[in-house]
Amino acid sequence: MEVFESMESRGHEQVVFSNDPITGLKAIIAIHDTTLGPALGGCRMWNYKKESDALKDVLRLSKGMTYKAAVAGLDLGGGKSVIIGDSKTMKNEYLFRSFGRFVQGLGGRYITAEDVGTSVSDMEWVRRETKYVTGISRALGGSGDPSPVTALGTFMGMKACVNKVFGSDSLKDRKIAIQGIGHVGAHLVELLHKAGAKLYISDIDEEKLKPVAKKYRCKVVNNDKIYELDVDIFAPCAMGGIINDETIPKLKCAIIAGAANNQLEKEKKHGKDLLDLGILYAPDYVINAGGLINVYNELQGYNRERALTQAEDIYQILTEVLNSAEREGVPTPIASNRYAEERIKGIRSLKKTFIGERKLNIERRKITEANPEKR
Ligand code: NAD
Repeated sequence: MEVFESMESRGHEQVVFSNDPITGLKAIIAIHDTTLGPALGGCRMWNYKKESDALKDVLRLSKGMTYKAAVAGLDLGGGKSVIIGDSKTMKNEYLFRSFGRFVQGLGGRYITAEDVGTSVSDMEWVRRETKYVTGISRALGGSGDPSPVTALGTFMGMKACVNKVFGSDSLKDRKIAIQGIGHVGAHLVELLHKAGAKLYISDIDEEKLKPVAKKYRCKVVNNDKIYELDVDIFAPCAMGGIINDETIPKLKCAIIAGAANNQLEKEKKHGKDLLDLGILYAPDYVINAGGLINVYNELQGYNRERALTQAEDIYQILTEVLNSAEREGVPTPIASNRYAEERIKGIRSLKKTFIGERKLNIERRKITEANPEKR
């Protein structure tokens, strides 16, 4: 894999390879784009078979973060990091403090957070070496578990979708199927129950289903059957890649709107398939941006109310994305990508104008200082 070629094709600014033989740390930090602000994105710990797999993953994920932050209207760029190793056996204080020192070395261009394979407590080790880390516990001044904020954003996004399809954003009596009753799914069920929706839930962990089903009067569905339900909304809240050639023919829902990352196995193809079938798809990184909004607020001195209000804005943002997809006759993921790219382009040209004007003023000053009679 050619590193510079890969960076250039995706538009990456910087990739840092970090190696610490004392702690065994092997990490890659990818900074995709800092036009809007410092590159923020989680640190994934994974036992990659090949170093090139780790590089591919970090390049792909960091670009995704640029788009997510841009659409959410945040002053953040996109970044991500990966630590190569087994998160079950290799984690310790030394490893994460070593990682924290590498993050500190970037002077704030990259801000890290937890991700798959890392936890709040790992980030608290990182915090001992750098202030450029988010997602630490509320007790230590952080924003804590982002899931309730992600669930609120997803709930508001569902309302925007229902409004688009049925002309009213009420979720009362709407039939909604939720796949995955984990951190986000469980909070989402609570919000939807309060809104009067009729709920169907599935999870591979049956223990998680029983208490939620009982408390919020949900119907438990076999995980294979959840795709086939005749519902208004199907909400993937577990794994990525579940909207694919095999599952699309089974779908009977009017809307797909859920919190899971990378729901479409192939963004272009499956986005188009859903458009052709008349199923409205809420682009995942737009509707699930609540978690990012939450950690962004941590950077400014965490205020829960402000984070929740910003997550509610997902209603408006998603409505704009859905409207522009309709106007342009393109799949919704294409519309959201364009929305992100336009915002970045706009801010970039604004910055260029500022720099240009500043240079011009300096030049003007030099000329008048050299020729005082021209004052
Ligand atoms: P989680 O691990 O707490 O919950 C996931 C749930 O899905 C678990 O209960 C698990 O048993 C279940 N599950 C796993 N595979 C399944 C399958 N094949 N079918 C049905 N259920 C299955 O994770 P979470 O924090 O709730 O996140 C859920 C999704 O949302 C993930 O894709 C995550 O990347 C995404 N997301 C989460 C946040 C957040 O704030 N937590 C933010 C943005 C995106």
